[in-house]
Parts: sequence; C-alpha cells; structure tokens
Amino acid sequence: MAKVVLIWNEHPNENLAGYHARRCAKLLSDMGHEVVVEKVPFEKTIQHVVLSGTPKEAARALADYERKCAATALMKKYGMMQRATVFNFHATPANEKARSHNNPPHKFSIGSEPFADALSSEILFLPKGRNYYVDVPATYHPVAPDLLEGRKKRLEQVQGEFTSFGRATRNLHPKYFLEVNKLGAPEQEKYMDPAITMKIANEIHQILEKGKRTNKRKP
Ligand SMILES: [Zn+2]
Repeated sequence: MAKVVLIWNEHPNENLAGYHARRCAKLLSDMGHEVVVEKVPFEKTIQHVVLSGTPKEAARALADYERKCAATALMKKYGMMQRATVFNFHATPANEKARSHNNPPHKFSIGSEPFADALSSEILFLPKGRNYYVDVPATYHPVAPDLLEGRKKRLEQVQGEFTSFGRATRNLHPKYFLEVNKLGAPEQEKYMDPAITMKIANEIHQILEKGKRTNKRKP
C-alpha cells in the first residue's frame, strides 16, 4: 500500500481535472492504496489573487504568489514530510495537444513536476520522484460574456501594476481567466468517459508500484 495524494483546483477553470481526480481517488483506493484528496481552496488560487482587491493590491500579492502557492505547499507537505507520492491534476487550457478535437480524449499526460523551472524557487526543493502532474484533455469555452471584458481589463491593469514595481512582466496565463471547461455540455461527455479515469488510475498505480520497488532497493 502506497500513500498517494491527489490535488485538484490549483486552477479553478479546469473542472475536468477535479472530475478525474475525485474518481481516480475511488479507483486507487479500491486497488488498496491509501488515498488523500486535496482540493486547493479558491482563496489560495492565482485566480483569487489576481481578481481580488485593487489592481495594485493584486499585483503586490502576485509578486509573492509563488512562495505562497497552495499547491506547491501541499506537494512539499506530502511529498517531503510524509513521503507520499503526489499527483497534481490539471486540464491545462494552453495545452494544445490535450485540447485538440483531433486528438482522442484519452490523450492525457502524466509526468514529473518541472523541477528545473526557474520561475519558482519553491518548486526546486520538491523531492524528485514524488511529485507528478496529470494533464487531462478538455474543451474550453470563453467565460460568460458579462465577465469576459471585465476580466480582460483586469488582467491588463494587474499586469501594468506588476511591471510598475520594476518587475519583469509576468505571464498571467490569460486563458486561466478567460476560458473555462464546464461539465455538462454534450461535447464534454466524451471527456468524462469512465474508461479515461480508469486509464489514468492505472498509470498512477504503475508509478506507485515502481516507486515501491525503487524504495525497497535502498538500504
Ligand atoms: Zn492547471
């Protein structure tokens, strides 16, 4: 039995990530793993940081966001302190491969968290082999029309304030704010196929089993 932690909602517009994470939890538990599910609270997401307060306040909070990022904190807590294996679920809107209609919806990807990503010094300290991302396919739509223009303006304002602190322009990943993959639309049904969740759970299971064998070899 391996302890496995499934994180979702780091990016709240990625509904399908949560859908698969919650169902994977059940499947992995049935396989005998000790499973913990962690939903990142909205108040701890980058969306909340960017959309709260004045643009100046948001830009200040943003400058400190990487250090406080809740998902990274969870990865450290479980991966480092509890020696669990952590899977952070996403349905990245910018992942053109995953969102392409030409690709079958089971084209998910699982990989190690990008330790070499210099953007976040916090991520550099994550233990190797214990932190993974899961990127599930999804289709995206613009957010509700009454939100769209306001959000575009907000992103511009926050980006402007951020740069006025003398910091480099930060990529706010506009798609996180301007697009959402909603459950329920007929086209989403194929992305919610239980067979997809089963494949993801099986791949996670393989990673966990491999991890156990690797750990056993260590003195
Ligand atoms: Zn994401």
